[in-house]
Amino acid sequence: MFIGTPLITEEQIQKKVKELAYKISLDYANKDLVVIGILKGSFMFFSDLIRYIQTPLKVDFIIASSYIKDKSSGEVKIHYFPREEIQGKDILLVDDIIDTGISLKTIREKILSKNPSSLKICVLLDKTERRVVDVAVDYIGFKVPNKFIVGYGLDYQEMFRNLPYITVFKKAVK
Ligand code: 5GP
Ligand code: MG
Ligand code: MG
Repeated sequence: MFIGTPLITEEQIQKKVKELAYKISLDYANKDLVVIGILKGSFMFFSDLIRYIQTPLKVDFIIASSYIKDKSSGEVKIHYFPREEIQGKDILLVDDIIDTGISLKTIREKILSKNPSSLKICVLLDKTERRVVDVAVDYIGFKVPNKFIVGYGLDYQEMFRNLPYITVFKKAVK
């Protein structure tokens, strides 16, 4: 078996996602909300989150990569950028985890250059210890230790994204 016991259980995640969605619903009442998920890591969190947000919204995605195996390459490649208008919209960026902060800082700047009416960031997980650049995050699910995490959208070499819970990745010991 490659995976251990949950660090954050499915129940804990779902409870937190509902709490975040509730706050977002209040903050974005009467706004022109576009929720932008950063793929691939945020796909599960994103889809759970938006179904609990109770204010009208549009969705879009950014496809970005910065990670090689389990070390941050420090370089962010944007493979897909929203085609929907950003100018004048209230943008909420959604990501799985903030680690060094380099990805979100880069993406944030790219969005800001398109003149949104507002821009906030929501992440499920925050690995504070590893931060190398400052990025203000407005909604945070859980703080996590400096370990390599998989599940609920997060991968190790593209595997384990489908786990409904979050766990620390450990290689199999034979
Ligand atoms: P950054 O270092 O730029 O803040 O993080 C970039 C991306 O690396 C995150 O959005 C996430 O997709 C990935 N990443 C960071 N830490 C982890 C981790 O512990 N596990 C996994 N699977 N991906 C991570
Ligand atoms: Mg990510
Ligand atoms: Mg990855």
